[in-house]
Amino acid sequence: MSRSVIVLGAGMVGVSCALSLQKRGLDVTLVDRREPGTETSYGNAGVLARSSIMPLNAPSLWRKLPSYLGNRSPALHLDPARLIAEPGWMLRFLWEARPSRLAARVAALESLMAHTVPLHRELMTQAGILHRLRETGTLKLWRSEAGFASAQAEHDFLREHHIESQVLDRQAISAVERDLKPIFPAGLLIPANASVDAPGPVTSAYADLFVNRGGRIEQAEIRSLTRAGSGWAATTDSSAFAADLIVVALGPWSGDLLRPLGLNPQLGVERGYHRHLRAIGSASLSRPVYDVDAAYFMAPMEQGYRVTSGVDLSARDAPDNHRQIDAVTASAREAFPLGDVVEAQPWRGARPTLPDSLPMIGEAPRNPGLWLAFGNQHIGFSTGPVTGEILAAMITGETPIADPKPFAPGRYIA
Ligand SMILES: Cc1cc2nc3c(=O)[nH]c(=O)nc-3n(C[C@H](O)[C@H](O)[C@H](O)COP(=O)(O)OP(=O)(O)OC[C@H]3O[C@@H](n4cnc5c(N)ncnc54)[C@H](O)[C@@H]3O)c2cc1C
Repeated sequence: MSRSVIVLGAGMVGVSCALSLQKRGLDVTLVDRREPGTETSYGNAGVLARSSIMPLNAPSLWRKLPSYLGNRSPALHLDPARLIAEPGWMLRFLWEARPSRLAARVAALESLMAHTVPLHRELMTQAGILHRLRETGTLKLWRSEAGFASAQAEHDFLREHHIESQVLDRQAISAVERDLKPIFPAGLLIPANASVDAPGPVTSAYADLFVNRGGRIEQAEIRSLTRAGSGWAATTDSSAFAADLIVVALGPWSGDLLRPLGLNPQLGVERGYHRHLRAIGSASLSRPVYDVDAAYFMAPMEQGYRVTSGVDLSARDAPDNHRQIDAVTASAREAFPLGDVVEAQPWRGARPTLPDSLPMIGEAPRNPGLWLAFGNQHIGFSTGPVTGEILAAMITGETPIADPKPFAPGRYIA
């Protein structure tokens, strides 16, 4: 008889784990308190970020720290209360930014990102939603001539990793995106990146694929995890799901069920917001653009132009703070003809981030049968499928498509 698995969390990571385990013949049940793909995996910028191999906490973070700590950068809002409540995560995050750790973390991210677009293309084909995939790259933009040096440096870095990019001047930017206002003297086009027009529906289409192949989805709020014989049980207020194995893929909520077991994964969150706006007239973009100096993505989506904010380092469940999304909305209006706002309130989510900006993929120390797949930070929509492939191969004893060592839970859980 095939081994049974409960996958907790039907975001991009959990749905991908469920599909990869199902493909290998395991009997999989996917559990979420909401519909698949309606939390963090809904609200992101939809970028399949092949080129995102430089961790956010790279050594350059130290140079930016004074502006971040003074809340003077649109890229980051730091709530002092979070600093006081979670000094450990913050200090570890900063400590990981030391130069001696950089090469190993870039290599680990590279091992994931190389699989991003091919795996999504394959899943979208199987799910019948290939029309949602745009293989038009992404465009990074700078508001001053000084941006040329940054664009060139990134171009050189990407070339070392065999990722093609093109440095563009104002005229070349207009040729690529004719409706952008001419406020950007420098740009970097990265054709290897791709994007989708609706990340939530893409995640739910992958969940439908899982169901069409015989998988089960249960809607339930899980309150605790307990050992049950040689397996595990996930308990709700009134019942329990039992299986040989459990996979925790609860995104920013993953720590909630692990801490009562004495497992603290050191998972932090980086909150972020989005809002949709309609373009004026026939203005359009062919790809997501990232305005480096103003720190926002603007991505063409089914619902309109989605503007996403930088990082809000407030507590996960603290009330919204719309300061950043309001600021970047104003900046986006400077760059592109945007009209009405589509929804009354901005969306808010939380990127699940471990101090080294690498996900946690593997079996929990001292807890056979309890598997972990979370912490995919800013690139979890991209890396969901490769996370699923690595995890499922480890469970079935195959050689994973990427070396799982850099993602081992033991680096944070003793
Ligand atoms: C503003 C913003 C922009 C981003 N842009 C990009 C981008 O362009 N490209 C990219 O690759 N990534 C991007 N990301 C990151 C990406 O969205 C996340 O890394 C990814 O969605 C995480 O997926 P997940 O499956 O781990 O978590 P989630 O999608 O949050 O899924 C977790 C699931 O767990 C469920 N859950 C939680 N607790 C329980 C419980 N107790 N019982 C039952 N169910 C529970 C939730 O309902 C949820 O469905 C962005 C993130 C943000 C916030």
